[in-house]
Amino acid sequence: MKLDEIRAAEAKLLLPTYERNPILFVSGEGVHLIAEDGQRFLDLLSGIGVNALGYAHPAITAAIADQSRKLIHVSNLYFHEGQARLAMRLTATSGLDRAFFCNSGTEAWEAALKLARAYAGLKRSEGQHLGTKFLALEHSFHGRTMGSVATTHKEKYREPFAPVMPDVEFVRFNNLGDLRAKFSKDVCAILVEAIQGEGGIRPVSQEFMAEARKLTESTGALLICDEIQSGLGRTGNSFAYQHYGIQPDVVTLAKPIAGGLPLGAMLCREEAARAIHPGMHGTTFGGGPLACAVALAVLETIEQEHLLEHVTDVGTYFKARLSELAEKHSAIVDVRGLGLMLAVELDSADLGKQVLAEMFNRQILINLTSETVLRFLPPYILQHKHVDVAITALDEILRERAPSTAASSSIGAKTNG
Ligand SMILES: *Cc1c(COP(=O)(O)O)cnc(C)c1O
Repeated sequence: MKLDEIRAAEAKLLLPTYERNPILFVSGEGVHLIAEDGQRFLDLLSGIGVNALGYAHPAITAAIADQSRKLIHVSNLYFHEGQARLAMRLTATSGLDRAFFCNSGTEAWEAALKLARAYAGLKRSEGQHLGTKFLALEHSFHGRTMGSVATTHKEKYREPFAPVMPDVEFVRFNNLGDLRAKFSKDVCAILVEAIQGEGGIRPVSQEFMAEARKLTESTGALLICDEIQSGLGRTGNSFAYQHYGIQPDVVTLAKPIAGGLPLGAMLCREEAARAIHPGMHGTTFGGGPLACAVALAVLETIEQEHLLEHVTDVGTYFKARLSELAEKHSAIVDVRGLGLMLAVELDSADLGKQVLAEMFNRQILINLTSETVLRFLPPYILQHKHVDVAITALDEILRERAPSTAASSSIGAKTNG
């Protein structure tokens, strides 16, 4: 089928959940996606943080070929070696004790929410009061299923589906006073993305994270870190919370874990895992042999190719070059992020859309989150030369826009003054 036919068929037949870009990609190679007409796009988004090893990585294609010949699915009624081997790796790097495998980010998050409620119930049955309330953060994003949207801050994600899960309160971002005011023994968990993804690549402050850890420790509530976007090397550490020197009780993972195949994981401490027994939670597909085999190949490749160090190196270079651009272009109001989870905040949503479109015309893929934030989530195998291509393009685009942005920013400055 040609792109036009596909577009027409989808417009008629699919639930209209996405406005797709008008391009048909048919293959990929390293950090590039290749369209049907042969155009090569530099991918600085990697399928929204999924394709950490880029496209057609031999470790991934080999793992898929080998495992698919042996066993793709067997259900969770029988053993296979994949979950045990993957759990060994993930518990070793996270400092947590147990894993539950599922198929997506939102499912990992649902497992974490259910664990927190079940654990609070167990504590109550043991005579210690822990309530059912969740504290989530302003700008948070945890997924699209009912529990996940209930803990996601943006109203447009929750409101059409009301009533969503009750007992969620949102804490103002990095506001310690608000966190202390809203925390009590009625809270079963504080929910944190160490670096918020969809919310605009916003890092939680050291003080806020430390306070969230201290408060939860004081009552026995759980500190749950959503590492679905930031985890598994994206920030140059295995997990973003490791930049804060704290140990959460529960961690959720998904996006990059299985090289593009659907897989999610929830990791937790033994203490919380006490609340779960056979039959309480489950999944048909979750943690299947194929997804686990590929995840093991991804984690082994990250280790063997020293990709954490590489992400830190290229990410530091990328951020420094973005900061140089910020010096030159007043339309850039902030440069944020760690490793290869980076963002440039612009002074207007219109400019954001223009930059996105111009980058696309130059065959570079990025995306726009929170209206004004250009987000970069490239594959971990990105090189300095790819960063240079992106910076040159951004510089040109912002230079072309300079007269209007300079005018609007000086107007902004006057109004603010
Ligand atoms: C993407 C994302 C999710 C949801 O993952 P899905 O696989 O789309 O369900 C949850 N939390 C964070 C931080 C994410 O980035």
